[in-house]
Amino acid sequence: MLDLVQQISDNVACVQQRIAKAAEGAGRTAEDVQLVAVSKYFGIAESAALLAAGCQQLGESRPQQLWDKAAAIELANTNWHLIGHLQRNKVRRTLPLVSLIHSVDSLRLLKTIDQTAKQIDRKMRVLLEVNCSGDVEKHGLTFDELKRLLDEAPEYDHVEIRGLMTMAARQGGETVATENFSKLRLLRDEAAKDCPPEVSLNELSMGMSHDFETAIYEGATIVRIGSLLFDGIAR
Ligand SMILES: *Cc1c(COP(=O)(O)O)cnc(C)c1O
Repeated sequence: MLDLVQQISDNVACVQQRIAKAAEGAGRTAEDVQLVAVSKYFGIAESAALLAAGCQQLGESRPQQLWDKAAAIELANTNWHLIGHLQRNKVRRTLPLVSLIHSVDSLRLLKTIDQTAKQIDRKMRVLLEVNCSGDVEKHGLTFDELKRLLDEAPEYDHVEIRGLMTMAARQGGETVATENFSKLRLLRDEAAKDCPPEVSLNELSMGMSHDFETAIYEGATIVRIGSLLFDGIAR
């Protein structure tokens, strides 16, 4: 266990340094970029090791895995992020556990979250997932759907929209990642022009292990990193 924490701490320190360097290169500071440590590849012990290594923002892409880990790791200073697709029938169990849902990709899902949040008397923070890559396998709103959703957003007063999220295309390397990430920023700037005052689009959740530096150059405020944090650890 100690070895695990040590290895993960080294990996976290290395990633934090790279985040700081990329942020400075983009004329920003390390504090402008939040690290969400994605623990989906591993189990409870590894998530606990991430916490021990100082990561307080933990991301899971599958609701079921998030439920299991959140039940096992009841630490007060843990903030769980749901970063993957959320089916509406899983909203009820997920909502009380998470501090931010990155992956709202339909008005129907937003409505369900709003209703459920109302029932448990809380306001749920969310990001809207946008499909910037044109990849049909990926979830996410088109720009027109995003605009429509934002127009209706004020009706849903138990959700707090904080920004946008995207994933770059799998293929295409840095050039395509740059295009996809700058597209999210430009869409955000465009949408923010006539956005209802209740809505904030300040957060941009974009960038993973292989492309987070590119994302930071393009304005990411949240990066979601998994594999790099588990470098050198056998599954
Ligand atoms: C798995 C996952 C990540 C992290 O991916 P790595 O390449 O391992 O850093 C980030 N975002 C989402 C939505 C994911 O599913």
